[in-house]
Amino acid sequence: MITPLAAPACRVVDACLVCGSRDLAPLLDLGEHALANNLVTPDAADTAEPRYPLGIQLCQSCLLVQLTHIVDPALMFSSYLYVPSTSTTWLAHCEELADDVCARAELGPDSLLVEIGSNDGTLLRAFQRRGVRVLGVEPATNIAAEANAAGVPTLNRFFDEATAEAIRQEHGPARVIVATNVLAHVPAPVRVLCGVRLLLQPGGVFVNESPSLCDLVEHTEFDTIYHEHVSYFSLHALRLLCALAGLRIVDAVPQAIHGGSLRLVAVRADQPWTPAPQIGALLAREQAAGVVSSAGLRAFAERTARLRERLQAAVRELQAAGQRLAAYGATAKGNTLLAYCGLSRDDIAYIVDRNPLKQGRLTPGTRIPIVSPDHLAADPPDVLLLLAWNLADEIRNQLAWFHERGGHFLVPVPEPRLC
Ligand SMILES: [Zn+2]
Repeated sequence: MITPLAAPACRVVDACLVCGSRDLAPLLDLGEHALANNLVTPDAADTAEPRYPLGIQLCQSCLLVQLTHIVDPALMFSSYLYVPSTSTTWLAHCEELADDVCARAELGPDSLLVEIGSNDGTLLRAFQRRGVRVLGVEPATNIAAEANAAGVPTLNRFFDEATAEAIRQEHGPARVIVATNVLAHVPAPVRVLCGVRLLLQPGGVFVNESPSLCDLVEHTEFDTIYHEHVSYFSLHALRLLCALAGLRIVDAVPQAIHGGSLRLVAVRADQPWTPAPQIGALLAREQAAGVVSSAGLRAFAERTARLRERLQAAVRELQAAGQRLAAYGATAKGNTLLAYCGLSRDDIAYIVDRNPLKQGRLTPGTRIPIVSPDHLAADPPDVLLLLAWNLADEIRNQLAWFHERGGHFLVPVPEPRLC
């Protein structure tokens, strides 16, 4: 009997994920990391999980910044604990996005709106409240089931051309396709966008939000690099990617969410649209920030190394002064930061997170216990390291009592500061 070969758990990216070029310049090596979202149950605490190299490189041909090594998506996405509806900032963002899309797309009562990577259906519910016919596509089995149970029709599969064709056959073409924080996760973004092109009706719009490479570089957000984020998009790279799939970008609007994102509006390249004038200004900002050259991106890598030294020094100083630290936000980026900066359970007593699915588990690699906000009130530390620094305002408002009783927040990015 022949046993089929298992897919490799991790592969080296030696050809660009978008254009296939082998002209790849290494930029930043963050070391070997456990998968940032694979939180550990207490019974598995003594079992070491695999670690994979984590680094980024620049394709000098199409300017896509991408990981140096890709981990098999099945290891990361089959049972996924990230449910964003626990953040009030995200809920407000969904309402604004739904209003913006409805204003742009002239959705009629029969128009179909498809969301790629629809998670637990939070964004689609905002469209349902506006009377829009929706369909979600979500690869995580447990979360797709949750969305269906909550009344948001959701297909449990990855989105590609085959999925697009199946939706088109069963539900008709889409007036609008929305994707937030999806493209960065997929090893073959061109296939996703070819699916978008296939499913979109003439005159339809594709609205995509991805974390902005420009913000990542300008604010030294190195911790947003982890294995689930395969690509880090500039508008320069997105333009070429869309063109390869037969789409054209007609508008781009920076967003504050997730430490800085870019909302793109694209249409089928065969449709008559005039691109918005601010696209030129955004391209110029990227040039100035150094995100389209290996020299500019290596300067970012040097800032990242300096940030690690400063954060380690800040933690050592606090400890020498007898201060006890805990952290807030058991986020994937938090795990990159803890591992890269060498912070362990000896440094961080626990991590508070509002998501009940995460509470009771331990962080991958570093084994720091994740607890509910009640624990913070019962056993407050002196200093709270904000791993979810993108929600710093929201968290500091929620935890005004902690500050009032003398506690401090340590914000790590763009450089460590105590407040
Ligand atoms: Zn390329």
